[in-house]
Amino acid sequence: MRVCSIIAPMHRLLPFLLTAALLPAAVGQQSAPAHDGAHQAAASVSELVVLGSGTPNADPDRSGPAVAVIVNGQSYLVDCGPGMVRRAAAAGRQGVPGLKMKDLRTVFFTHLHSDHTLGYPDLIFTPWVLGRTEHLAAYGPHGLNEMTRDILAAWKKDIDVRTKGLEHANASGYLVDVHEIQPGVVYKDENVTVTAFAVKHGSWDESFGYRFQTPDRSFVISGDTSPADSVVQACNGCDVLLHEVYTQDPQHPMSAQWQAYFAAFHTSTTELGAIATRTKPKLLVLYHQLFHGVNEGEMLHQVREHYSGAVVSAHDLDVY
Ligand SMILES: [Zn+2]
Ligand SMILES: [Zn+2]
Repeated sequence: MRVCSIIAPMHRLLPFLLTAALLPAAVGQQSAPAHDGAHQAAASVSELVVLGSGTPNADPDRSGPAVAVIVNGQSYLVDCGPGMVRRAAAAGRQGVPGLKMKDLRTVFFTHLHSDHTLGYPDLIFTPWVLGRTEHLAAYGPHGLNEMTRDILAAWKKDIDVRTKGLEHANASGYLVDVHEIQPGVVYKDENVTVTAFAVKHGSWDESFGYRFQTPDRSFVISGDTSPADSVVQACNGCDVLLHEVYTQDPQHPMSAQWQAYFAAFHTSTTELGAIATRTKPKLLVLYHQLFHGVNEGEMLHQVREHYSGAVVSAHDLDVY
């Protein structure tokens, strides 16, 4: 995490920043949001925590992609990049509610790429070993059932030893209720309505973004996608649009093959600026940033060339 002098999450600061006409300077800080360990009583009931802002790159400062939406002290996770359980523990240590191990009970997968799912066994087993008794509820594309079944089979000996041996582990907390979903409302409770929408992630047959509508705010998470009208429709003035992005180093252009890959699978800074201009989030947050040798300030600069609204670049443990 980064330590910065601003102690309130970005969304609590934004009205002040806007009215104080400090926006260009404020959004120019890549370290603008978030926590310094002194989580304060929430003025609003919901917030979004970036547990992992990373990509397949094994960047020690950026865990694999994972997000938690917190509403009234309850957490709803999106994706399970490697490291996410420990990042959840770190956010909990900072005072973010709803991230105790027993509270990690609901997860939504955008798609089944390994960088978004390598933390899934961790989410199944670690909270269980540490005392979770409730089943995990997992929502995501077709294939999630099979993946879950195979993970449980792969760890069969562990489950046997823990439940039948001297650990006396409970026999329920490692089980998963899997829901293979289609676009539309996929979850609803007293805190949140979660709507899945199809995005365009190259050759994946199914890949989703999610909109979380809470009593006070709306969060839209793009997942991995090339430019998609569905993101524009899902956000439509939402409070926070968390969107993936890549950039290119003009000094070191990609090969034609990689350019074709990125055009089909991901969203460039230029394309994201155009999307944000159309859908007008109150705050655009970059995550799953593929820098390709370009620094963060330059990435933000490229987005701002095509988008005049508020934009920040996420780091692990940032809160919005
Ligand atoms: Zn990814
Ligand atoms: Zn992906």
